[in-house]
Amino acid sequence: MFDSLSNRLTKTFTGLRNRGRINPVDIEETCEEIRVALLEADVAGSVVSLLVEKVRTRSLEQISLDKKGINPGQQIISIVHEELVSILGGSARRLRYAKVAPTVIMLAGLQGSGKTTLAGKLAAYLKSEGNTPVLVACDLQRPNAVDQLQIVGNSVGVPVFAPEPGNGVGDPVKVAKAGIEFAKQKVHNFVIVDTAGRLGVDKELMEQAKNIRDAISPNEVLFVVDAMIGQDAVNTAQAFLDGVGFDGIVLTKMDGDARGGAALSIASVTGRPVMFLSTGEKSSEFEPFHPDRMANRILGMGDVATLAEQAKKALDGLDGESAQKLEAKFVAGEKFTFDDFLEQLQAMKKMGSMSKILGMLPGAQSAAMKKQIAAIDENELTRAEAIIHSMTPSERQEPKIINGSRRARIARGSGTEVFQVNNVLDRFTAAQKAMKQMRNQPGLGGAANVPGMPPMSGMAGMPAQKVAPPPKRSKSGNPAKRALEGR
Ligand code: GDP
Repeated sequence: MFDSLSNRLTKTFTGLRNRGRINPVDIEETCEEIRVALLEADVAGSVVSLLVEKVRTRSLEQISLDKKGINPGQQIISIVHEELVSILGGSARRLRYAKVAPTVIMLAGLQGSGKTTLAGKLAAYLKSEGNTPVLVACDLQRPNAVDQLQIVGNSVGVPVFAPEPGNGVGDPVKVAKAGIEFAKQKVHNFVIVDTAGRLGVDKELMEQAKNIRDAISPNEVLFVVDAMIGQDAVNTAQAFLDGVGFDGIVLTKMDGDARGGAALSIASVTGRPVMFLSTGEKSSEFEPFHPDRMANRILGMGDVATLAEQAKKALDGLDGESAQKLEAKFVAGEKFTFDDFLEQLQAMKKMGSMSKILGMLPGAQSAAMKKQIAAIDENELTRAEAIIHSMTPSERQEPKIINGSRRARIARGSGTEVFQVNNVLDRFTAAQKAMKQMRNQPGLGGAANVPGMPPMSGMAGMPAQKVAPPPKRSKSGNPAKRALEGR
C-alpha cells in the first residue's frame, strides 16, 4: 500500500532530517519533491496544491522562529504529517449506531468494486466486536451475487437473508424492507444491505440505490470503491455523492500499489470520511481507517497501533482469553513456553501474510528491511507449527530437554529436516530473549513514533527467512547455547 509514494517521501525526509539548519530554498525544494511524489501517486491536483501550500507556509514560519535545540527537519516532517492527516479526514470516524436497533448499513458502489466481499468482511468485523449482524441480498442483478453473498456469509458465520434468487429476478426494494423486518424479528443488531452495481455510473443504478435508501432509511450509506481505478475512484465517488448521497467511504483493493494515491484525495474532494479499508481477498484483510495511522505508514513511520490491534484480535479469536493470558504471563515474568509460541504462530497466521505484517513496522520502506521482507518464506509458519505439534507436552514446557535424538524424532514426525527443527528452536530462544528484553522496556507503544527498524528477532514468533541447510558443525543440545553459537 502506497509503497512507491512512501519510498519517495522517506528519501526526501532522510535528507531533511540530517540537516542542521534549513533555509527557504531547502523548503522550496522539499515542497517540490512532495508535490511530484503526490502527483505521481495519483493524488488529485487540487488536493496536492492545498497540502503543499500549507506545508510551505507553515514551514517558512517555523524556520523563522529558529527554535534552539529542535531539529528543523523533524519539525517540517511533523508539519507534513499533520497536513496529511488533515487531507485524510482528520480523526477516525466510527460507525453511527441506531438509537433503536437494528443499525442499518447500506453498501453502494460499482459492480466489481468489492461490495459483496466487503459485506462479509464488515459482518465478520462487527461480529468480532460482539454484534449480531445479518446480511441482506439486494444485489439481484449481477449473476451469482446472491449465491456469492451466501457463501461469504457462511464463511464468516453470519446469516444471510436472501428470499429472491437474483440473476435479474426479484425486487431489491422489497427485499431490503423485508430484511429489516427479519432482523427485528430475529433480534439482529446490525443489518448490512448489499445492493447492485453497474459497470459504470448510470441513471438506473442511481435510481435503484435511491429507492432502496428511501425505503429503509439506513443509518449509514457506505460507498465502496476500488482504489486501483485511480482518479476514476474520485470521479465515481463524486457522481454517487451527487446522485445518491453517502455518509462514508470504504476503499477496497488497497493491497495493490498502482495509483492507490487517489484514495488520499477522496475524503478531501467529497467531504466524506474514509471509514474502512479492504486490503485483500481474505475476510481478515480489513481494517477501520485511521487518518493518523495512514499518515504514519505513508511517511515510513509504520503503523504499530493497527498491528497491535490485529495481533490482539487474532489472539482473542483463538481462545477468548489467550491475549489476556499471554499478557498476564508476560507481565508476571512467567516462563515463555512452546505452547505460548504455538499460540503466537497461530495468531500470526490469522493476521495474514508476513510481508503485509512487516510492512506496517516503522522503517519498512528502508532498503535493508525490504530485503528482509523479500526473503521471507511464507510457508515457514505452517512448518514451525507442524514441528511444535510433533513435540511432547514436556518438550514444549521444557525445551532444554530437546537433545539430538529428540530433534531427529521431531523432524521425522513433522516431515521436516533436523536443520529446520533447529531453526525453530533458535527462533524460540530468540523470542524468549526478546520477551525478557521487552519486559524491561516499558512503553512499547512509543515505537510507533520512532522510525527505524527494531531487530528482526525482536518479534516473537517471527519466522526465519529462507535459509539453506547450514554446514554441518557440532551443536550444543542446549537451545540457548546453540543460539549463541550461531552468531
Ligand atoms: P461486487 O461486484 O462489488 O460485489 O464485487 P466483489 O465483492 O464480487 O469483488 C470483485 C472482485 O474483487 C472479487 O474477485 C474479489 O475477490 C476481489 N476483491 C474484493 N476486495 C478485494 C481486496 O481488497 N483486494 C483484492 N486484491 N481483491 C479484492
